[in-house]
Amino acid sequence: MLILFTVLGLIFGSFLNVLIHRLPLNQSIIFPSSYCPYCQKKINWFHNIPLLSFFFLKGASSCCNKKISIRYPIVELISSTLWIWSYYYLNTAIDQAIFLIIGSCLLTIFFTDLNHFFISFELNLIIFISSLSYFLINDLGNIKYHFLSMFLLSFYFLILMLLSSYLLKKDTMGYGDIILIAVVTFWLGLVDGLLIIFFASLFSIIHWLILKFSSNKKDIILPFGSTISLATILIFVLKHTLQIETNLF
Ligand SMILES: [Zn+2]
Repeated sequence: MLILFTVLGLIFGSFLNVLIHRLPLNQSIIFPSSYCPYCQKKINWFHNIPLLSFFFLKGASSCCNKKISIRYPIVELISSTLWIWSYYYLNTAIDQAIFLIIGSCLLTIFFTDLNHFFISFELNLIIFISSLSYFLINDLGNIKYHFLSMFLLSFYFLILMLLSSYLLKKDTMGYGDIILIAVVTFWLGLVDGLLIIFFASLFSIIHWLILKFSSNKKDIILPFGSTISLATILIFVLKHTLQIETNLF
C-alpha cells in the first residue's frame, strides 16, 4: 500500500507539472499530450517517467538537449511526500482524499504564482468544493463556523486590499490572493486562517529581504499566493503530525 501511495504521488506530481506549465498560458490541460516546451516535439512515454527520466536524461531533454527545469522532479517529490505523509497520518480514506486534492491544488498554486503571479480560479474553486463536500459528508455540525470564518477573513482582506491600493495608488493584492485566503480559511477555520496569514506574511517578509539584498530591483512584487499555499500545507501537516488542536470553542 505504501508503494502504491508513493508511485501514485509521483504520477500525480507529474500531472501537476503539466498544470503548472499550462494553466498560466491558458492551454488545455488534456490535449495535446506532453510536449517539449523548447522544440514542441511530443515526448515519448519512456522519457516521461516521473523522477526517473529526469535523472536518466541527466536533466536535459532527449529531443533538443535543452536543460529541463529542476522544478519537475521537485514537484514530483513533494507530491509523493504528501501522499506518503497522508498514508501515515490521516486515518480515513475521505480525510486522505480531501487533503491530497487540496494539497495538490496548493502545490500547483505555489509554483504558478511564484513563476507567473498566476492563481487559477478553477483551483480555488476545487479547494472550496472539496472542503464543502467534506463538511457535508463528515462534519455538518461545524459547517456554519467555517462559513463564518471565511466571510470574516475575506471581508477583512477585501477592505484591506481596496484601502491599501487606494492609499498607495498601486495594486497591493490580487483577487486571486483574497479568494485563496477565503477558501483555505473555509477549509481549516478561523484560527488556522489567522495562523496561515501570520506565517504567509512572515515568509513574504523573508522573501522580500532576500530579493532586496540579492538584486537591485526597485519594484519587488511578492507572490503572496505562494506563501499562503506554503503556510497552509505546513500548518495542516504540523497540526496532524503533532496532534495539535486549534479550536476556539
Ligand atoms: Zn525539445
